[in-house]
Amino acid sequence: MFRSTISLTTRRQLAASIARHPTALPSVSLLTRSFSATRAFRDDTDDTVAKTSLHTLTEDEQMMREMVSRFAVDVVQPKVSEMDEAEKMDPAIIKGLFDNGLMGVETPAEFSGAEASFLSAILVIEELARIDPSISVLCDVHNTLVNTVFRHYASDHLKQKYLPLLATEKLGCFCLSEAGSGSDAFALQTRAELKGDHYVINGSKMWITNSGEADIFLVFATVDPSKGYKGITCFVVERDMGVTIAKKEKKLGIRASSTCQLSFDDMRVPVENVVGEVGKGYKIAIEILNEGRIGIAAQMLGLAQGAFDTAMPYMFQRKQFGSFIGDFQAMQHQYAQIAVEIEAARLLTYNAARLKEEGKPFIKEAAMAKLYASQVAERASSKAVEWMGGVGFTRDVPAEKFYRDCKIGAIYEGTSNIQLQTIAKLLAKDYRE
Ligand SMILES: Cc1cc2nc3c(=O)[nH]c(=O)nc-3n(C[C@H](O)[C@H](O)[C@H](O)COP(=O)(O)OP(=O)(O)OC[C@H]3O[C@@H](n4cnc5c(N)ncnc54)[C@H](O)[C@@H]3O)c2cc1C
Repeated sequence: MFRSTISLTTRRQLAASIARHPTALPSVSLLTRSFSATRAFRDDTDDTVAKTSLHTLTEDEQMMREMVSRFAVDVVQPKVSEMDEAEKMDPAIIKGLFDNGLMGVETPAEFSGAEASFLSAILVIEELARIDPSISVLCDVHNTLVNTVFRHYASDHLKQKYLPLLATEKLGCFCLSEAGSGSDAFALQTRAELKGDHYVINGSKMWITNSGEADIFLVFATVDPSKGYKGITCFVVERDMGVTIAKKEKKLGIRASSTCQLSFDDMRVPVENVVGEVGKGYKIAIEILNEGRIGIAAQMLGLAQGAFDTAMPYMFQRKQFGSFIGDFQAMQHQYAQIAVEIEAARLLTYNAARLKEEGKPFIKEAAMAKLYASQVAERASSKAVEWMGGVGFTRDVPAEKFYRDCKIGAIYEGTSNIQLQTIAKLLAKDYRE
């Protein structure tokens, strides 16, 4: 629903402007612009709802945040550098995530999950990224993409079979991208042919997060290339059905997170492993990535906060010219600016998450959150390196790792250009007559 009148604030601003400049009446175009601008804000007024800030969490969300923060500091932090150097995830940390209930955050209790809110999952991803964005993305893909596909689209049989495993011991991954289909995801070529009670899948996937350690693969393939995107279907595949790791990528950042090329050679998948309807895989992918983006926003937000928290104490330990470097005005202005940007990214991210939870439109807000949080992550981690001088450039402190890790935020789950395209498309819809 959109407000159809000029808001009170706008009217007051216009009245004040007229009072200050009585001869310069606002032009028709200004009035039109003001009027249109108010249309872009949804009227979400509901007097029965308690008014709270976006920082207000439920008791459960608060507890979840504290628990995951302790886990990140006590269990993950000591291994971050070693895992980054080795470009390998420590299996004990993955087990720790399962043992602490962090791999089925929203999964209902009947399927062994924590049955917590979507914002809880966002807080988990954020808190993990403050310490290690690699662990964060492992948990993010597993929760916001894989578990969510099962919860929303899978048959009761598939839910009963896989959700408890995904909440307690088996890692999942989401296999959409291919060598020829990235931003244009639905140009995928992997083929699934029905043969009796099985589909036979042939093809390959690229860039698949978690695939080095995963047991459960959500694979998007076309059952009929002549139907275009309407042939795309989502399948649950277990590793031993015939998934081959063709290559593990060596990356700039998030190096402990496995990113592999996969190939499928006459892989037989039972008919009952189709998720949702045949030919509706494109819808699953679009819907899931729309909300998954809030997870990447949370990862980038946590990364920005982690970089900031790394550099700030140094500012008040390091002295030059007889003063703490954090007391120079040139430095004060920089860290104040970054703090504002981190706060703005946090509000965009939490707001998108709450909108989704409330069942309200959230796609534009999710794209804004992901776009902006990834930009803030780049600026914050770059500044953190600079603020620490030569020390920041070494591998002795985590600032350089945050700087390497941030770049992926502008690429996966829709590049920054694709986010801008989504935002622009939805804005144009609001303003076009
Ligand atoms: C580390 C990592 C992990 C990943 N994990 C997964 C995963 O788990 N599962 C999965 O399915 N995929 C995954 N991906 C793939 C990722 O989603 C894609 O890399 C991403 O969507 C971009 O696709 P691309 O790499 O083919 O780039 P391209 O689509 O080729 O884009 C290259 C450039 O062209 C621009 N561009 C493309 N189209 C347009 C357009 N229409 N308008 C304007 N600009 C455009 C892009 O913005 C970008 O700057 C991962 C990628 C990486 C690097």
